[in-house]
Amino acid sequence: RVRVRFAPSPTGPLHMGGVRTALFNYFFARQHGGDFILRIEDTDSQRFVPGAEEYINEALEWCGIKVDEGVRQGGPYAPYRQSERKNIYKQYADRLVESGHAYYAFDKPETLEKLRAEAESKGGAFTYNYSIRNSLENSLSLPPDEVERRINSGDQWVIRFKMPENEEVIMNDLIRGEVRVNTSTLDDKVLFKSADMLPTYHLANVVDDFLMEISHVIRGEEWLPSLPLHVLLYRALGWEDKMPKFAHLPLLLKPTGNGKLSKRDGDKMGFPVFPLMWKNANGEISRGYREDGYFPEAFVNLLALLGWNPGTDQEIFSMDELINLFSIERVNKSGARFDPEKAKWFNHQYLIRKSDKEVAELFSPILEQYNIDVDFSKLVKIVGLVKERVNFIHELWEQTNFFFERPIEYEQKAVSKHWKAETPEIINMVSDLLKQLDPWQASDIEAGIKNFITSNGYGMGKVMNAIRLCLVGASKGPGIADICEILGKEETLIRLNQAVL
Ligand code: GLU
Repeated sequence: RVRVRFAPSPTGPLHMGGVRTALFNYFFARQHGGDFILRIEDTDSQRFVPGAEEYINEALEWCGIKVDEGVRQGGPYAPYRQSERKNIYKQYADRLVESGHAYYAFDKPETLEKLRAEAESKGGAFTYNYSIRNSLENSLSLPPDEVERRINSGDQWVIRFKMPENEEVIMNDLIRGEVRVNTSTLDDKVLFKSADMLPTYHLANVVDDFLMEISHVIRGEEWLPSLPLHVLLYRALGWEDKMPKFAHLPLLLKPTGNGKLSKRDGDKMGFPVFPLMWKNANGEISRGYREDGYFPEAFVNLLALLGWNPGTDQEIFSMDELINLFSIERVNKSGARFDPEKAKWFNHQYLIRKSDKEVAELFSPILEQYNIDVDFSKLVKIVGLVKERVNFIHELWEQTNFFFERPIEYEQKAVSKHWKAETPEIINMVSDLLKQLDPWQASDIEAGIKNFITSNGYGMGKVMNAIRLCLVGASKGPGIADICEILGKEETLIRLNQAVL
């Protein structure tokens, strides 16, 4: 049975890269009729951030990702929060020590700090492994009774994995194929700490994936360097035949293409990197896709194409289509460059696919905020005229406000360009002509004005721009005749006359 998990650490708001990982897991689970599990990896108490877990739940919900088993849903492998599974992990650390795959270490932080500094001053990095472990303070170098004495007297200790020397670990990644690493380059990672009696990420993650019967681990590329350790842990615990298959997703890159997209890029470069708005402990706000006006469907769609492609030109996909079409084989190895302009394009595509009525419904609350009261069928017509011009619902206000409010001033630039000495006279004539029109319909209005312009030999642009200035107060908006029809005859005449005064 396919069982996948999304296993975020609640160390802050979920980044869009995190949401993409969740999504790919979700597509894969649904496609195979499997389970999608949400596990909260909160064993690092120092990095725990209040509110982050709620944020994760809310973000997944907003995206339409349904969790089968998790902290809120419960399930047969509960609890799904690692801090509530505390008592599970120590026995596995003990087992590794007993079988000689791990050992106790008592080194003081100062000692390790010094070694690190020394290595760095020589331009290298300190690696706690076979080359040095015998000269440090641990159960491999100290006599057994001394080890026991230290543990019993309450000295702080950690349990480290005994990374073998010069062993070639051969791994298989579903995206990258075969990956080989020589263990001599790796260090004896800490698996468990006496300070809080909690496992580190590596041990808790492997133990839980095993206990929760995870079949596939799909996660970000930043975890690829941990894979050899994880594979060795499965072997050491005797679980190799139950080891999940691994797939490491490519990084998301900055819009410029150089470097990984970071949590800070969004605020710096003016686009969201978080699904939802986040307010940190200092009250600083990071914008979110939701609050910026993205439709969750558009967000899901744009994320799906960051690192995956369907092999065709199709770009717009519903969640169901993505579930059907997704395949790990079509996930790219190289990083996926995030393009904020393309993100807006996706939202635009979803907006224009909505009916005018739906768009009007979504726009209504914004009009209420401006205390605008407008007939709904009229609003449907208005948004139908302008929705092609916007990417977001909130941008409709800027495109339509003149329908609801008579201009009180006129855009200076447009005035100097389009308002000439003879303009008032022309506008008066247009006004007289429109007064005669009955019924009041865009097609007739259009024909009337055009006829007037050609029979008088005026320039088309000259007259149209001046009328627009009177009606809108600026050089924007849809076609003049459409504007007139919606404004109604009376309002149109008022605006023309007001402008020439
Ligand atoms: N807790 C890890 C994270 O925050 C999970 C990594 C994994 O999926 O193994 O991303």
